[in-house]
Amino acid sequence: MSDYDVIVIGSGAGGGTLVRHLAPSGKRILLLERGDWLPREPRNWQAHDVFVDNRYVSDDTWYDEHGKPFQPQVHYFVGGATKLYGAALYRLRAEDFGELHHHDGISPAWPISYDEFEPYYTRAEQLYQVHGARGEDPTEPPSSAPYPFPAVSHEPRIQQLSDDLEAAGHHPFHAPCGVMLDEAQMHQSACVRCATCDGFPCLVHAKSDAEVLGVRPALEHPNVTLLTNAEAVRLQTNDAGTTVTGVVAGGETYTADLVVVSCGAANSAKLLLASASDAHPRGLANGSDQVGRNYMFHNCSAVLALSKEPNPTVFQKTLGLNDFYFGTDDVDYPLGNIQMVGKSSAEMYRGEKPLQTKLAPEWTLDKVAQHAVDFWLSTEDLPIPENRVTLRDDGSVGLAYRATNDVPKKRLLHELKLMLRDLGMQHDHLVPRHAYLKNDIPVAGCAHQAGTCRFGKDPATSVLDTDCRAHEVDNLYVVDTSFFPSIGAVNPALTAMANALRVGDHLLERMGAQQAQREHAHAG
Ligand SMILES: Cc1cc2nc3c(=O)[nH]c(=O)nc-3n(C[C@H](O)[C@H](O)[C@H](O)COP(=O)(O)OP(=O)(O)OC[C@H]3O[C@@H](n4cnc5c(N)ncnc54)[C@H](O)[C@@H]3O)c2cc1C
Ligand code: SF4
Repeated sequence: MSDYDVIVIGSGAGGGTLVRHLAPSGKRILLLERGDWLPREPRNWQAHDVFVDNRYVSDDTWYDEHGKPFQPQVHYFVGGATKLYGAALYRLRAEDFGELHHHDGISPAWPISYDEFEPYYTRAEQLYQVHGARGEDPTEPPSSAPYPFPAVSHEPRIQQLSDDLEAAGHHPFHAPCGVMLDEAQMHQSACVRCATCDGFPCLVHAKSDAEVLGVRPALEHPNVTLLTNAEAVRLQTNDAGTTVTGVVAGGETYTADLVVVSCGAANSAKLLLASASDAHPRGLANGSDQVGRNYMFHNCSAVLALSKEPNPTVFQKTLGLNDFYFGTDDVDYPLGNIQMVGKSSAEMYRGEKPLQTKLAPEWTLDKVAQHAVDFWLSTEDLPIPENRVTLRDDGSVGLAYRATNDVPKKRLLHELKLMLRDLGMQHDHLVPRHAYLKNDIPVAGCAHQAGTCRFGKDPATSVLDTDCRAHEVDNLYVVDTSFFPSIGAVNPALTAMANALRVGDHLLERMGAQQAQREHAHAG
């Protein structure tokens, strides 16, 4: 008999959500996490520690296609990247599930429709307590329920921005936010609406992350075991290679009937490639040679506009704009999403050369910070096979990446620039920000990594079937953002969470535990 019914490897948006979903079933579940609990300490909210000293960034070294080492912006903690994320919890657009023609090529269709996915988005929004307002964004896909919590209000400068955008004929909307904020009863609110949210850990555990809302509630069930500092290094199989028989982590080998990999797109590919065997000489589940390929991470720009009036906003990430998502009147290809990022501070700019050289001497960094309005622009990058994760001889990650859709990325920036005059901003200043993008080493800014084990109906062109089970290995699943066949232009976490719930339903059914789960849900 196996040690466990299910082993889940990785506790982020995919794995943490899945474990929470499976926990009430009573099945024996082992969660392996290579990192530790993220320490709760005042430094969680110190910009210098977080942005300049990279306190919560792994000290992993990865290598680009030329063999040049870099430090990837990855976070190995219980809760994974969601510990640091901005908690902008968007659904993909319904059209993203179909084939879309982009400037640089095709964004392929998903093997399942938006309608099949929709109920899981609704459940993920409820689980992660998303605050938002339906009906404001014309690109919004259909939904079967309202947001579970009201939208986070705009502070005055952002409300002004919203009003100015509307006056100019645009459709700004309240961004969907995963923060446990109760504005009607602030004395009861877990979230204190601070300036150190996007890119920071939440010191008071009020961010809807996968530790707080996934792993911790799962651990209340005695059938769930978490091992931290337990990096899975290899999956063993039977001789035929059809079943995973062991997970090697921390010098031990653990067995389970079902094994779910959820290490983040690069590390899941790494683990499968490192599990090559006679039956799987190119890497586990890699008969299609697709493991590691089609790596995507959005073609993003973080920019700072200078407001004529000061911008004293504390929590800035409340507004989004999708008017250019599918193009413009003159542009018949998709451009992407515009949203706000966390308000920048002078402390974050230290070492950012573009800011220091472009605006000096008229603007001190403190003055820049007082007037900064920070935007984040995402353009979809396309899945191309040459953009790939490989396993180097020394066991480290190799990452080859060539950007796609640079033209739409620039055009989106241009559209924002054209709007500045109407928005009470200095029209000649739109300054690139490093923020957590690390523009100096673009490939290191892998916050939105996805796509290395895409799901599909054809085993020749995909790694996973539509249940996210490996085509070639009966008891192996992948539930992090690796499964994305395309990434759209909105933030990926809610889609990973929703998919984990979808795959979780399949696993419960496979284990015969669906009924128990339903009964528990009704009782709770
Ligand atoms: C600064 C920042 C801001 C972001 N903002 C947003 C946002 O506002 N909205 C949004 O939707 N998305 C955002 N993202 C992206 C979002 O966090 C990710 O898309 C999401 O967390 C991916 O989920 P995942 O399960 O694929 O991987 P992760 O959440 O990264 O989880 C992977 C887990 O696996 C563990 N692991 C890795 N290898 C192993 C191994 N071999 N053995 C055991 N454990 C392993 C890791 O430690 C980690 O805990 C942001 C990311 C960052 C870094
Ligand atoms: S804004 Fe709220 S959720 Fe975000 S870090 Fe501050 S207290 Fe935490």
